[in-house]
Amino acid sequence: MHRTVRVKRTKTGRPAPVRAPPQKAEVNLAIPCTRLLAEGADVEAVEVIRKVVFPTSVSEEALLAPIDSYKMWDKYGGATAAWQLLLKVKTEVSGEKSYCCRLCPKPRRPAYKYSHDSICHFKRDHFGFAVACIYW
Ligand SMILES: [Zn+2]
Repeated sequence: MHRTVRVKRTKTGRPAPVRAPPQKAEVNLAIPCTRLLAEGADVEAVEVIRKVVFPTSVSEEALLAPIDSYKMWDKYGGATAAWQLLLKVKTEVSGEKSYCCRLCPKPRRPAYKYSHDSICHFKRDHFGFAVACIYW
């Protein structure tokens, strides 16, 4: 069956950007925390989510928010954004650093060479934000 796809256009005739459907975020904070703990997440990391990252509601803005507390910055090795609090920095034998997700069960924690690579993992695998990710 042939279907014509209607492309929306801007005033100048260029194809208009396709708008994604509204994102569905988990509003009930108890759900992700309980689930994360049941799956084997780091207890302390889940505490951080509950108290620091998402104190009121789960949102992408909160995950990406800058950290303005010196105490948190100091405790988490110079973290400057909320999502960095959920990573554990490991130094490999080669001397290179790896960033591990503390929300995944211990034996299956992904390690990233660059800390920002973990952002789409958090969004996609832990908090259910719609994300266009180049890795999957
Ligand atoms: Zn993870």
